[in-house]
Amino acid sequence: MTNPSLLILPGDGIGPEVMAEVRKIIAWYGDKRDVHFDVSEGLVGGCSYDVHGTPLTDETMELAQSVDAVLLGAVGGPQYDNLDFSVKPERGLLRLRKEMDLYANLRPAQCFDALADFSSLKKDVVAGLDIMIVRELTSGIYFGEPRGIFKEGNERVGINTQRYTESEIERVARSAFELARRRNNKVCSMEKANVMESGILWREVVQRVHDTEYPDVQLSHMYADAGAMQLCRWPKQFDVIVTDNLFGDLLSDAAAMLTGSLGMLPSASLGAPMANGRPKAMYEPVHGSAPDIAGQGKANPIACILSFAMALRYSFDMGDEATRLEAAIEKVLADGARTGDLLGPEGGSPISTAQMGDAIVAALDASL
Ligand code: NAD
Repeated sequence: MTNPSLLILPGDGIGPEVMAEVRKIIAWYGDKRDVHFDVSEGLVGGCSYDVHGTPLTDETMELAQSVDAVLLGAVGGPQYDNLDFSVKPERGLLRLRKEMDLYANLRPAQCFDALADFSSLKKDVVAGLDIMIVRELTSGIYFGEPRGIFKEGNERVGINTQRYTESEIERVARSAFELARRRNNKVCSMEKANVMESGILWREVVQRVHDTEYPDVQLSHMYADAGAMQLCRWPKQFDVIVTDNLFGDLLSDAAAMLTGSLGMLPSASLGAPMANGRPKAMYEPVHGSAPDIAGQGKANPIACILSFAMALRYSFDMGDEATRLEAAIEKVLADGARTGDLLGPEGGSPISTAQMGDAIVAALDASL
């Protein structure tokens, strides 16, 4: 049997620092669990521009298309702010998402008990929270035509168009139902069918995909504004939420922050199933390249390590190992290990990026 293949793209700023800690975890799996990955590495973002004059070369793009999963650190930095739009670091990221056709963006909101005090909500509302927002990523109002700012009589009018085809809704609905089957088997679909035709179609198509292909999954529908309220009131009622690009943008940011620091938030973007049945996939922390702390050993590597845990679960069918890794992180946090971003106003002594990685490896050792 061939090993699962993983392309690592550390990127800029703290990207290489947090990725170094993921490499320790990958090495641990090889040494202690006899789980091996064919790891390749490439450049993306500003570091690729520095070497090749482009934020992503065709060779790296091809490699990304050929592997089982891509794990990306972060891109960008102030030194690239004045570059032409076409070669800005973010263009590398956008090219990966577009050419791999990653239409389902997964944003978990998961609250580790040890960090429940970090949330702006009451501890009992968020402790143990584990929900997944699936946001449609490649269509909807951010892409629909017509768009633009036009002259109309004596004034200008700004126009964006919300547009969804049935097949676009179907495929993201399938992603959500598939995920739910690996979790607690519940999907809540959110739109504004009360005021938007695209919402009426969304609701109808999600219901149809459910009835014909996933009748075993529990499905409910909610207006997105009511959903936002419910997320703040009692988020634990949800398992998987599926929604469009615009609502998903807002709801996933709100849900993620229920659980505390940016340094803790992983994400995945999935596309169509490949020949091996697994989806095309790219995993990345939600945070950026954090130039303010880059090169100082201050970055929290947990968001990137949790992104690797998502890869274990969703690309490599190693759900048990993903759970092991998440439990190791939970233990390290419960034992009081904190990078700077996880210290409250009362302060404390932070550990470094590398110390956090080492602590997680030690907790993995203890799990055997
Ligand atoms: P950012 O996420 O890089 O940083 C925001 C704040 O959070 C900073 O104070 C930073 O120090 C802190 N932070 C972020 N990640 C952290 C971690 N792992 N550990 C500890 N602290 C952490 O967002 P920004 O400052 O708005 O953007 C900086 C650069 O990153 C820009 O060039 C931006 O374009 C880019 N960016 C890239 C991505 C991506 O690669 N996906 C996402 C967002 C921003």
